[in-house]
Amino acid sequence: MINLASDNVVGASREILDAIAAANAAPEASYGADRFSREAEARLGQIFERDVKVFLVATGTAANALALSAFTPPWGAVFCHEESHIADDECGAPEMYTAGAKLVGIRGEAGKFSTHDLEHALKRFPRGVTKAVQPSLVSLSQVTECGTLYTLDEIKALAAVAKRYDIAVHMDGARFANALLSLGCSPAEMTWKSGVDVLSFGATKNGALACEAVIFFDPKKAQDFDFRRKRSGHTLSKGRLFGAQLLAYLEKDLWLANARHANAMAKQLSDGFAKMNSIRMPWKTEANEVFAIMPKRVSDAFSQAKIFAAPWYKESISLPHNEHIKEDEHFLRFVTSYATKAEEIETILKTARAA
Ligand SMILES: *Cc1c(COP(=O)(O)O)cnc(C)c1O
Repeated sequence: MINLASDNVVGASREILDAIAAANAAPEASYGADRFSREAEARLGQIFERDVKVFLVATGTAANALALSAFTPPWGAVFCHEESHIADDECGAPEMYTAGAKLVGIRGEAGKFSTHDLEHALKRFPRGVTKAVQPSLVSLSQVTECGTLYTLDEIKALAAVAKRYDIAVHMDGARFANALLSLGCSPAEMTWKSGVDVLSFGATKNGALACEAVIFFDPKKAQDFDFRRKRSGHTLSKGRLFGAQLLAYLEKDLWLANARHANAMAKQLSDGFAKMNSIRMPWKTEANEVFAIMPKRVSDAFSQAKIFAAPWYKESISLPHNEHIKEDEHFLRFVTSYATKAEEIETILKTARAA
C-alpha cells in the first residue's frame, strides 16, 4: 500500500518519538514551564533571528484560530483566500475563537490572491463605518491549499497593503519548512522581514506527532495569549510532550531534512507526471504537493495497485480559467512526506505509464 493522501497519514519521525520517550524519564515542571519547551522556544528565537513569543498547541486549527483571535475584535474582518484552510477546513474555529469575527474570502488562481484582490476586498469594509465589520488581519497560507507559494516579493507587497490599511498579517505555515526550502530564503525573510506579524509554524505534517507553534514577532502583541491558549484547552499540563517534540524537530535541522526529502519526492513525482500526455497538472509543484488530472483508467489502476491519493475538488475556484475537468477524468492530490520512498514514487509512475 502507498498512501499519499496527505502528509499526516504517516506517523512521527523516529527522532521525535525517541525524544518524547526520553522526556518521560524524570520529573519536569508542568504547563509549559519544562526545560524542553523553554529550550525549543529559545531555539526558535535563534532560527527567526529575533525575540519571539512562542506558544505550543496540538493542532494547526488551534494555532490559526488562536493566532487570529489575538489580532481581531469580534466585529473584525479576517481577509483570506476563499479556499484557505481557515475558511474551508477548520469547522468555524476561527469564528469561534475570535468570538465571531468575519472571514472574508478572496478569489484567486492557484490558492493565491494579489494585492489588487486584497485591496478590492478591503474597500468593501470602510474603517469607522458602523455597519461594516472592521478590517483586522490578512491571512496568507504558505504553502497554499494548492501546493503553491507566495514569493518574497508577493508577501512584501501584500504586507504593504496591510500596513496601509492598518491591519496585521498572519501566515498559516502548516507546511512552513517545505515552503522555506523551496524559496531558498531564511525563516526571518519569509516572515517578519517581509511584514508577517504572527505565524502558525507547523511541525505535525513534517514529522512531529502533534505540535504546532504560534510565533509572535512582536512580543507585545502576545500579552494575553497565555489566557487565550488556556481557555481554549491547549495548555498541556504535561507540557514536555510539546517541548520534547519541537526540540527534536529543530535539533540537527531535522525539520529541514524532513521537508527537503518530502519536496524532492514531490518533484520526482511531478517530473514523472509531466512526461505523460494523458496527465495534466493545473498548479505548479512548488513544495510537497502534486495535483494531477487524469483519465479514470489511470486512477482506477492506482486503486487497483493500492495507491491512495486524495480526490480533489473539480469545482475549485483556484483552477486556471481554461481548465475544464471532464466527466471521465479524476483530479487527485498526492502529498509526499519525510517517510515517502523514491521506490514508491517509481511504482506510482510505472503504474500510471502502464495504464
Ligand atoms: C493541515 C493544515 C493545517 C492544520 O490542520 P490541523 O488538522 O488542525 O492540524 C492548517 N493549515 C493548512 C494549510 C493545512 O494544510
